[in-house]
Amino acid sequence: TKPDWLSRALARAGALPLKQAEEAIEQGRVTVNGRAVRQPLAPVPEGAVLKVDGLPVSREVETHVLAFHKPADLLTSTVSQHRTGTVYEVLLPQLPDALARYTWHAVGRLDRGTTGLLLFTNDEQLVAHATAPETHLTKRYVATVQGTADDARLEPLRRGVQLEDGPTRPAQVQVRDAHTVEVIVTEGRNHQVKRMLGAVGLPVRALHREAIGGVVLDVPEGTFRPLTPGEITEGL
Ligand code: URA
Repeated sequence: TKPDWLSRALARAGALPLKQAEEAIEQGRVTVNGRAVRQPLAPVPEGAVLKVDGLPVSREVETHVLAFHKPADLLTSTVSQHRTGTVYEVLLPQLPDALARYTWHAVGRLDRGTTGLLLFTNDEQLVAHATAPETHLTKRYVATVQGTADDARLEPLRRGVQLEDGPTRPAQVQVRDAHTVEVIVTEGRNHQVKRMLGAVGLPVRALHREAIGGVVLDVPEGTFRPLTPGEITEGL
């Protein structure tokens, strides 16, 4: 994840609410590695020691990311809650205490019937970054389609097709067999893959997500594993 700016770092560490953090900084009450910094938007170097009124701020809410294998028939809501029928109903009971104390956010969503890789994180900034349209994180799907998939039919998807909400970015598309298509997209619009394949006359009967960025699904359905720090920084 990107470094926080100073006011935001104080707020996230729970030292002061954002507005008060800005005031304290402007008043010269905040030091970064021993020096007063008066710019609320100053970037905070990694590992910097922050103090407010001479008192150290204990930082680092660590970023955790979980790779979950979503089964079908579960809704993806964006924040963890025990509502029945959501992915959290399956995920939360599995979490060890060290992870259970966080609030989990789904990174993007999968349709109710879609299976496969769904990431969760305690870091809202990571959600914002990973799902921002300009990030262009790749998502790899495999779709089972009705009708016969061949290269000619898929060709328009490689250039971009017109959907109701605008043209799609070029996708990487490959025929795996007559009814199975691999699609790699760099956007995350609602029902995007289904709409794209529908647009070329291949209605989707089943959809599965195999990878997001450098993270490849490798756990059994209904289970999760935490990503390593290296996977988070390099894969997302
Ligand atoms: N595209 C879809 O159509 N559905 C999903 O769940 C994900 C991508």
